[in-house]
Formats: sequence, structure tokens, C-alpha cells
Amino acid sequence: MRVLMTGGCGFIGTAIADLMLRRGNQVLNIDKLTYAANPSALQGWMGSDRYRIVKGDICDMAKVLSVFEEFQPDCVIHAAAESSVDRSIDGAAQFLQTNFVGTYTMLEAARHWWAKRKGTYRFHHVSTDEVFGSLGPGDPGVREQTSYAPNSPYAASKAASDHLVRAWGQTYGLPVVTTHSTNSYGPWQFPEKLVPLMITKGAEGEALPLYGAGDNVRDWLHVADHAEAVRVVLEHGNTGETYNVGGSFEQPNVEIVRMICNELDEHMPENAPHERMICHVEDRVAHDWRYAVDTTKIWSDLRWRPEIEFRRGLSRTVDWYLQNRPWWQEIRRKRYRGERLGRKAA
Ligand code: NAD
Repeated sequence: MRVLMTGGCGFIGTAIADLMLRRGNQVLNIDKLTYAANPSALQGWMGSDRYRIVKGDICDMAKVLSVFEEFQPDCVIHAAAESSVDRSIDGAAQFLQTNFVGTYTMLEAARHWWAKRKGTYRFHHVSTDEVFGSLGPGDPGVREQTSYAPNSPYAASKAASDHLVRAWGQTYGLPVVTTHSTNSYGPWQFPEKLVPLMITKGAEGEALPLYGAGDNVRDWLHVADHAEAVRVVLEHGNTGETYNVGGSFEQPNVEIVRMICNELDEHMPENAPHERMICHVEDRVAHDWRYAVDTTKIWSDLRWRPEIEFRRGLSRTVDWYLQNRPWWQEIRRKRYRGERLGRKAA
């Protein structure tokens, strides 16, 4: 299969592209190479005639159309996005541009290309559970048909992109599918996100800044499980449908950070206990209290469920960051020093 990926140098995109390549597919990866991109994550595939990376902006219609014409994809996996809630609070414009206009551009190009070609075709939109907004303690996990209630500029821009995908399916008959996944963790995640931020700061002996009381609850899914869910939905999902994807492992952020501290204690006993480095900082504005998804549909229809148990996945992830210090230390020198983001709202 010829897979046109967007954002294949990002955290999720890298795992999906790697999986599709390991399964024998051809992958063309269009990526703008923003601050969040890690082209080296797919270094092992650079010499392969089944993998190509094109530096390009998904908002650039001419570029995107030329990529479709040249590569002639059988499917699109759209994972390019601006993805940080905190950065979206600092400045929403780029989020609307990439997540909304970029998705529009991809849909239009996909529609034009699809009109010309015969045979099966798929447009897979990678989305997030954050579009459904915040849950209370006893609320059941959101279902696919739950109403949208995004609370951050990031979530609103993703919700808007989801609506475009649905509309292009309904209006033009574009064969679309969408996945809504919970928080993912694993190798190659940019160290501004909770898990790698805590590992990298802990490894450097720095304070571990936790928003508010740290009681916000998230569901956690290993990135390899996320990628496999995308593949299963791409290949076997029903056209026009959306699927929730989750790890069935809900925890308050403070518990996740404590688990990271325990892992760091094992690797770096000289600095134990790392938990003493946890410091509570002013909460994020409009911080959603809890996300959780009901994954009955993807299990009953497609028999997908996560394989990687959280503690095992976290332990491997901590190992990976400790063994790949040069990668994230260079990021911390040149792209992100670990500073607090998302405070401009006040
Ligand atoms: P990321 O920030 O790690 O990577 C985004 C990638 O997109 C980068 O390689 C970047 O260079 C590229 N990109 C950004 N703007 C672009 C543009 N205009 N044109 C081309 N490429 C561009 O993000 P991520 O965490 O990998 O998230 C990818 C997708 O997965 C997002 O849509 C996000 O909503 C979704 N998702 C992520 C998670 C998670 O926990 N990370 C969970 C659920 C859903």
C-alpha cells in the first residue's frame, strides 16, 4: 500500500510511519519540520526505497497537490498538527492555521486525487479525546457520539478539523475515518509533554513542576498501541465512522509523576528519592479535570485493545530517555529549555 503520511516526524506520526514501513508499505512523509519534529526517529528507514520524506507545509495547496500527483497514494494518514495545549494558550493562530486550514487543504487535495483514481482509498484523521472536554469523577467515558465540548484553543482547533473531516465524508463521499485517542507516551515524545518533561527534568536533577494539585486525571496509552489502533482502523474500520482509542489506565497526573520518580530511583539511586523534587505550580488556565473514553466500539467491531501494560511501558520509556540523552539534551539546548509555557492567558 502507498501511504501518504502527514506529520510523520512527530511523536505519533513516527510510530505510525515505522509500523506501516515494518509491514511492507511504501510511506511518503510530508512534514514541515517544526520545533516538534524528529526526523532522526526514522533514520533507520532513510536508505530504504520504500520511505521518503518531503519537507512541506500541509497548508500549501500547490505543494500538497504535487505530492498526491507524484506519489499516487492508496491512503492518507493525517497526523500533522500543532499539538501542545500550553503553546495554544500562548498563541492560537498557528493552531488554527495548521489544524484547521491544514486539514482543509489535505481533504481538498485528497478529494481531487480520489476523483481521478479507481479502487479502494482511505483518509484517516488522527484526533484526540480532548475534543470532548472535561469529565467529572463519576462520569462514564465518552462514547463516539458524545457531544463535543473543547476547552482549549488546541482542542477547539482539533474539534474544528474533525468537523471538516466529517463534512468532506458526508458532502463529497470522501472515504474518511477518524480516531480519538487518549494521552500517549513512549519514545521520541518532545520533552514539553508531561511524561518526557518529568523524566528529562528528573534526570537532570531539576524540580518536577506539577500543575495545581496534580489531581487531573488522564488515560494513558503507549504510542505503539496508538499506532496499531490507527493501522487497524485504517485497514478495517467502517468508512465514515469514528473510533475511540484508549489505554484503560486512568490516573491522576501526580500518580504518573510518582511512578516516573520510582523508575528514576532505580536507575539513579544516588538522587533518590526523586519524589522530593515534585513541586506544585500554578495550575493551567481552564485545565480539563478528567478525560476518559469508552473503547467498546473499537474492541467489539475491530478487536483492537492495548497490549502494553502501563508500568512496563513506562519503565521502557524511562530507560529509553536515559539511553538517548544526547537527543533530548540537544533539544533542551536549542529548542526548548524546559520553561513554563501557557501562562499568557491571564
Ligand atoms: P507532535 O507535535 O509531536 O508532531 C506534530 C508533527 O507535525 C511534527 O513533526 C511537525 O513538524 C508536523 N507539523 C506541524 N505543523 C505542520 C504543517 N503545517 N505541515 C506539515 N507538518 C506539520 O504531535 P503528536 O503528539 O505526534 O500528535 C500528532 C497527532 O496525534 C495530533 O493530531 C494530535 O492531536 C494527535 N494525538 C496526540 C496524542 C498524544 O498524546 N501525543 C494523543 C491523541 C491524539
